[in-house]
Amino acid sequence: MKKVFCIGELLIDFVAENQGKNLSKAKEFTKKAGGAPANVASAISKLEGKSVFVGCVGDDPFGHFLLQILEENHVDTSMAQKSDIFTTLAFVSIDEDGERDFVFSRGADRELKYDTSLKKEFKNNMVHFGAATAMLGGNLEESYNRYFFDALTKDSFISFDPNYREDLWKHKEDVFVKKCTPFIQKSHLGKFSLEEAQLLSGKKDLKEACAVLHEIGVSIIVITLGKEGTLLSTKNFSKTIPSIEVTPVDTTGAGDAFIGCMLKQISAHDSLDALLNDEDRLTKIVALANKAGAITTTNFGAIESLPTQKQLDS
Ligand code: ATP
Repeated sequence: MKKVFCIGELLIDFVAENQGKNLSKAKEFTKKAGGAPANVASAISKLEGKSVFVGCVGDDPFGHFLLQILEENHVDTSMAQKSDIFTTLAFVSIDEDGERDFVFSRGADRELKYDTSLKKEFKNNMVHFGAATAMLGGNLEESYNRYFFDALTKDSFISFDPNYREDLWKHKEDVFVKKCTPFIQKSHLGKFSLEEAQLLSGKKDLKEACAVLHEIGVSIIVITLGKEGTLLSTKNFSKTIPSIEVTPVDTTGAGDAFIGCMLKQISAHDSLDALLNDEDRLTKIVALANKAGAITTTNFGAIESLPTQKQLDS
């Protein structure tokens, strides 16, 4: 089984306890571990895959708590870094439909330094780039781009999730698109939400959006559509794979559970070329990932809601 290196942020989500879309009315918050790449690493490990988290937290009680959570979930944290800068914090509220509102105080995640020793580890392994904060500058962005180059030169399987957050990129959407383009060009797997696929392709129609994204370069496209399931597209075929019916309480982490479950399954696969042409196999991989996403929406929080292999099998 290949290792999956997950590069990006790990942060504290302070989740508003009194439910409601309006953060300004929230009075109490519960501390939770968050950050899309860290969630993906946890999703893989909870499904008994091998994941390594590469990111930076503050050398403070919040940072220690975050690393401990990853370790409890069997994520390899030996490549995680600690900084004197405080741990990154996000404040989140969740409405009745499980949708989120958030504000963000950026700290240590941007401090990630490039480590040359990782490059050799990328050979015959997989690297997942989750871009929520990585495109926002700092050492993280520089390290992120260098790791991307390393993954390319070592022929790693590359997965990319742009993790677009409208609030962070208002009036700078074109900069975001420009920064994502090299990753779309070279990734084997690209995971997009509907909004991301439309923004990054410049096309409203999903078929046309896929055509543009394939043209840029990405081989396997998955567009997650919430309760409608997932659109799977390769250069040879395209289909929507339905999800399972659940009653969602919090959609946080559903996309991360989904891509984590896909990566875990791909990590057990020997040949990417064979996989790319295997419609049946890819369909099964996405169907199981849909299930992982759906299960995650039935509980509050991200990491604690990610399914174990046992839950996924049941
Ligand atoms: P995120 O906001 O975490 O980045 P996302 O927008 O990429 O996530 P979603 O589309 O919300 O991801 O969810 C990922 C997958 O989880 C979906 O493709 C679907 O299979 C499953 N899923 C999400 N919400 C539901 C739901 N309400 N009912 C059933 N399945 C769901």
